[in-house]
Amino acid sequence: MKGIRGFKDILPGEVEKWQYVESEGRRVFGLFGFLELRIPLLEKTELFARSIGESTDIVGKEMYTFPDRDGDSLTLRPEATTSIMRAYLEHGLDVKEPVGKYYFIGPMFRYERPQKGRYRQFHQIDAEILGVQEPQADAELLVMLMRFLGGLALQNLNLQINSLGDPACRGPYREEIQKFLRSKSEKLCEDCQRRLETNPLRVFDCKKEECQAQLAGAPVVLDFLCPDCRRHFERVKGLLDELRLPYAVNPRMVRGLDYYTRTAFEVVAGDLGAQNAVCGGGRYDGLAEEIGGPSVPAIGFAIGVERLVMLLPEEKNYLRYPDVFIAALGEEAQRKGFALAQELRDAGVWVELDYEGKSLKSQMRKAGRFKTPWVVILGEEELKKDRAVLRNMATKAQEEVALEEVIKRVKTESRET
Ligand code: AMP
Repeated sequence: MKGIRGFKDILPGEVEKWQYVESEGRRVFGLFGFLELRIPLLEKTELFARSIGESTDIVGKEMYTFPDRDGDSLTLRPEATTSIMRAYLEHGLDVKEPVGKYYFIGPMFRYERPQKGRYRQFHQIDAEILGVQEPQADAELLVMLMRFLGGLALQNLNLQINSLGDPACRGPYREEIQKFLRSKSEKLCEDCQRRLETNPLRVFDCKKEECQAQLAGAPVVLDFLCPDCRRHFERVKGLLDELRLPYAVNPRMVRGLDYYTRTAFEVVAGDLGAQNAVCGGGRYDGLAEEIGGPSVPAIGFAIGVERLVMLLPEEKNYLRYPDVFIAALGEEAQRKGFALAQELRDAGVWVELDYEGKSLKSQMRKAGRFKTPWVVILGEEELKKDRAVLRNMATKAQEEVALEEVIKRVKTESRET
């Protein structure tokens, strides 16, 4: 039996990179005052349909949706923002403290065509600032994002930003883009011909080349911003400039979810090939109302962990190795070794040992595979004197030490290596 297409196992050897990325995320987000908020895997389908938008690819054809046993339609979360907002409103977090800064790390599910960097179960690191409409929130979130990615020593990253305006300025824009696209409608794919009538902005994120080609010279929403949206965008850019955070304005970036308003952004990596977006996000001031809540201005991002891990520099060693290997010779030594291993672990030392009573040579080979810097050799002769041999695997130097000394020595030596 094999696993499901597009669903990936993450094995030891790679998982250390994931642990590193996640712990760095927690550390950096903590410095900016973000708290972890965990959301469930499943939500009512309606929640995503209403927020992400019926005419988006995600809702239209990518969600894992099924009826629960009592007939409710449920969906495996395709993204986190909507659920975080639902939780924030459901638990009255907005009443207790209107400004909420939350992060979440976990798997998402989308029925996309699997390829390198694109999976059906993939993972996102999410961060959201809820309850702040000021451009400072946009700038702070972007600074945090780029600090995090930069701290992982990722190269060739490009932050692209845009403003999608609000419903007021999008109305006149919608008419213009519709007019423009209708004149080219015959050359658009079937999906886009439909999108053109229901949600013309979505044509921008069609992946088909024939549609992209038709968009040359299309009007962009940036040119239609109302004074308030324009001021907001100018202020965000001004703050980024003051903080010397490099970015490029990309007026054609619309993002694949309907709930975005005003600031939208993406981080694109030069080294990823076709699936080159590492992170996407934006402001979603209308989302809370879409899902039946009060008005809550908010902004957030989602980083794709698979793609992030692919970009980590290879030179860095993400693996950890045991501190010590216990090689025991003979039954009595094995018994002692087994007990000593537990004592060492209680003292905070990572210990590996042999379970099979193999020869010293074979045990030393095993220690070599584990790459432990130290080996404790328990032989019958030494045990008679309550002593053991401590071997430094790098220098091959050996010395005899009293058994009761072993823990102290290994503890200090392992700290030093
Ligand atoms: P989105 O939620 O669509 O804005 O995506 C945010 C980020 O999640 C993207 O920039 C990708 O890094 C990642 N992502 C989205 N879909 C997938 C997928 N199917 N497989 C792997 N990563 C993905």
